[in-house]
Amino acid sequence: MLKKLFIAGNWKMNKTASEAADMVSSLVDLLVGMESKAIIAVCPPFTALDRVSCILENTGIELGAQNLSDKEPGAYTGEISAGMLLDLNVKYVIVGHSERRQYYGETDQLVNAKAHMALKSGLKPIVCIGETLQEREAGKTMDVIKSQFSGSLAGISAENILNTTIAYEPVWAIGTGKNATPEQAQEVHKFTRTLLKASYGQEIAEKVIIQYGGSVKASNSRELMGMPDIDGALVGGASLDAHGFAELITNALKK
Ligand code: PEP
Repeated sequence: MLKKLFIAGNWKMNKTASEAADMVSSLVDLLVGMESKAIIAVCPPFTALDRVSCILENTGIELGAQNLSDKEPGAYTGEISAGMLLDLNVKYVIVGHSERRQYYGETDQLVNAKAHMALKSGLKPIVCIGETLQEREAGKTMDVIKSQFSGSLAGISAENILNTTIAYEPVWAIGTGKNATPEQAQEVHKFTRTLLKASYGQEIAEKVIIQYGGSVKASNSRELMGMPDIDGALVGGASLDAHGFAELITNALKK
């Protein structure tokens, strides 16, 4: 089915607010016209959201955050609420990135609570799932995907799954320069689509966007996006440079 590619840049813990503002100003110029052909979002660190938000106003490029609290506002030192993000015109929020799972102990249960908080507040979560190298080598990829899928998306209604993006990000491909081959990625995306079908039915399953993430760059975006169940990309390192990110999107659109 025809749906717009959804390409989001995850800047991780990179760029001060000033650096982010410079980068996004260049990006806006480079992407003119492309925002109507694909959904494009940038996810800067929290400290840069306000400035980037002002620059993105009326450009058609969307703003995302990299995390949110699963709690309502209150005594949670250091946390950021859904409402704080909405106030800055944030539309998307990454939850369950493997770096949060690995370094900050985020479990499927917490990821699920964050996804529910995002959805009930009107934010669109990008829920990340993916296996480690060890799990892949042990032949457990599909088991891991199934268990993260059920745990992270538990209780999400049919209506809300349409506001949710799933990002398949094999941990061994993140920041390593070694992307999954288009065939490896397609295999997992197809399996994820089957899980969606089992939970929500065919029509909804086909509408849900499943992004691939893991060393996507300008040189491989076209072939990865050319696979039938890959609907977009979550891009880390290659989204940090305006020209490189714009080239990656241009190539992806040639799929
Ligand atoms: C990511 O951070 O989600 C990611 C996929 O990183 P990279 O593109 O650098 O592998």
